[in-house]
Amino acid sequence: MSALQSMPGKSQAAEAYDVVVVGAGFAGMYMLHRLRGIGLSARVFEQGSGVGGTWYWNRYPGARCDVESMQYSYSFSDELQQEWDWSERYAPQPEILRYANHVADRFGLRSDIRFNTRVEQAVFDESTNIWQVATSDGRTVTAKFVVLASGCLSNARVPDIRGLDQFKGKVYHTGHWPHERIDFTGLRVGVIGTGSSGIQAAPVIAEQARHLTVFQRTPNYSIPARNATLTEQEREKFRQNYSEIRRFAREEAKNGIYTDLPDRGALDDGDNERRARYEQRWQHGGLTFMSVYNNLALDQAANDTAADFVREKIAEIVKDPATAKLLQPTTYPIGTKRICIDTDYFETFNRPNVTLVDIKSDPIEEILPNAVRAGAKDYEIDALVLATGFDAMTGSVAKIDISGRQGQTLNQKWAEGPKTYLGLMSAGFPNLFIITGPGSPSVLSNMIVSIEQHVDWIADCIAYMRDRGFEAMEANQDAEDNWVAHVNEVAYTTLYPQANSWYMGANIPGKPRIFMPYIGGVGPYRQICNDVAAKGYEGFAKTAAQPRKMAASS
Ligand SMILES: Cc1cc2nc3c(=O)[nH]c(=O)nc-3n(C[C@H](O)[C@H](O)[C@H](O)COP(=O)(O)OP(=O)(O)OC[C@H]3O[C@@H](n4cnc5c(N)ncnc54)[C@H](O)[C@@H]3O)c2cc1C
Repeated sequence: MSALQSMPGKSQAAEAYDVVVVGAGFAGMYMLHRLRGIGLSARVFEQGSGVGGTWYWNRYPGARCDVESMQYSYSFSDELQQEWDWSERYAPQPEILRYANHVADRFGLRSDIRFNTRVEQAVFDESTNIWQVATSDGRTVTAKFVVLASGCLSNARVPDIRGLDQFKGKVYHTGHWPHERIDFTGLRVGVIGTGSSGIQAAPVIAEQARHLTVFQRTPNYSIPARNATLTEQEREKFRQNYSEIRRFAREEAKNGIYTDLPDRGALDDGDNERRARYEQRWQHGGLTFMSVYNNLALDQAANDTAADFVREKIAEIVKDPATAKLLQPTTYPIGTKRICIDTDYFETFNRPNVTLVDIKSDPIEEILPNAVRAGAKDYEIDALVLATGFDAMTGSVAKIDISGRQGQTLNQKWAEGPKTYLGLMSAGFPNLFIITGPGSPSVLSNMIVSIEQHVDWIADCIAYMRDRGFEAMEANQDAEDNWVAHVNEVAYTTLYPQANSWYMGANIPGKPRIFMPYIGGVGPYRQICNDVAAKGYEGFAKTAAQPRKMAASS
C-alpha cells in the first residue's frame, strides 16, 4: 500500500504515487532512495535508457569530472564510499557512469524508474492538491508531490547556424554523444566551443584526427588537472578521514570542496610570495587554484593578479605568440565563468595538426556541406563537434509544461528570469520541488554535496507534512521576493555578474540576464535552509488536510 493512501488528498487514478521524480541522475537516484526510506511510493521518469544523467549523456572523448572523484561521489552511505575504488584523481566518464549503475543496483533503484520516458506536462489540480503528470508514452499518473531532478546541465544547446543541416559529415553534440565509440582517425574535425567540454575534448580528438580546427568565440581560463592514478594509500587516506572531509565540504567550504581555506587576500602578499603561491597551486592542479586567496571573486585588483598569472602561463606554453594571444582571456575576471580544468589543452595548439580560429572577430557565417565558413574563409572538415554547452539551470525545467495555481505556467512566471524561495520551490506551485534549482548554490559547488543537501531537505519536509497532516506547502510570495532580492544582492557584491556566462543565461539568445545560482556559499546556505525547517518551514504556507478530501480518499 502506498503511503499516500494514509496521506490526505489521495487520488483514485490507476497509477497514483506519493511522489513523481523527474530524472535519474545523481539527484533523482538519491531522491528515490530517501523517499523509499520514509515509506513513500515514488516513480522516477527518465528520458534516457539508463541512470547517471550527465554521465549517461556526456560521453565525448576526454569527458571526466573536474571535482576530484573522492569528493565527487555520494556521502550518504558510508559503506558505499568505503567500498568503491576510484581509479584516478578525476575519474573518466565511463567510470562515473559505472558508479551510477553500481549505486542503482546496490540500492535496488531500477524497479521504480521508468526509462525512455519523458515527463511532458505537470498540472496542479487545486481542488484535490494533486499533480497530474503526463509522460511521453501517452500515460498520465498522479502524485502528491513532484520533484524536478531534471538537471542543471542537461538541456544541450544546439546553436542556430545557417547550413548546419546541409553538412554532409557527422555532427555530434558533446552533451548528447552517441553510445558507440566514435573514431576520428584520418578525419578533419571541427570543434565549435571552448568551454569545459571543448577544452576536455580537443586534446583527445587532436591525437586521433588528421586535423583539428577549434572555433573559439571566448577564450577560457583553464588550470591543469594534473590527473593521475590514485594509489591505494591515497584512497585509504580519504576513507579514514571521510567523516571530517564530508563535514567540512558541507559546512565550511564555500563550494563544497575540501581544501585549505584562504586566510588572506591576494594583495596582502608581495609579488614574489603571491607568485609562489599561484605557482604551487598551478603545479598541484585543479579547481582549488581559485581558493588560494579569499578575495579573488570580490576585488578586481586581486583578481587581476590571478588572471595575469594564468595568461602568462598560456604565453609560456603556446609557442606561436598570435595563437597564445587568442587563447588568453581578457574580457572578464578569472573564475566568473566556470573555471576549466584540462589535460594538455594549451599544449594541443603546439601540434602541427591543430588550428585555432577566432570566431569572435570573424563569426561563423555558415556551414557548408564540407566546411565551416568564417571570416570569408572555408575550413574543410569531415566531422563537426558542437561543444556549445547547455541552456543551463532552467532549460530542462522550461521544456516541461508545468501549470500551478490558476493555470499559471512556470514558464510564464519565469519569463523574466527564474524566481524561487531558497532555489527549492516557486510561489504558486505547491508541492513542486526543484533540486539544485536557480537561487541555490548548485552549479557553483561540488554538485553532489548540493544535491544531497536538497534531497535530504525535501525528504524531511515531506515527512514533516505527512506527520502533521499537511497536504500542501508552497513558498510565500514575500519570502520568495526577499530571497530573489538577496540572491541578486549577494551576486552583485562579487565580480561574477561582469562575465557573459551561462550562470547569467548569456549563452542563450533572448534568455533574461540574471545571475541564477546563489553565491553565498554552501555552508551558510545549508544553515539558512536548516533554520527555515527548524522554524516550521518559515516562509512556506501550509495547507491542512481537508476533511472532505480525507473522506474522499477513505
Ligand atoms: C561534462 C560535465 C562535467 C561535469 N563535471 C562536474 C564535476 O566535476 N563536478 C560537479 O560538481 N559537477 C559537474 N557537472 C555537473 C553535473 O551536471 C552534476 O554534477 C550532476 O551530475 C547533476 O546531477 P543531476 O541528477 O542533478 O542532473 P543530471 O545528471 O543532469 O540528470 C538529470 C536527468 O534528468 C533527465 N530529464 C530531464 N528532463 C526530463 C524529463 N522532462 N523527463 C524525463 N527525464 C528528464 C535527463 O535525461 C537526465 O538524465 C558536470 C556536468 C557536465 C555536463
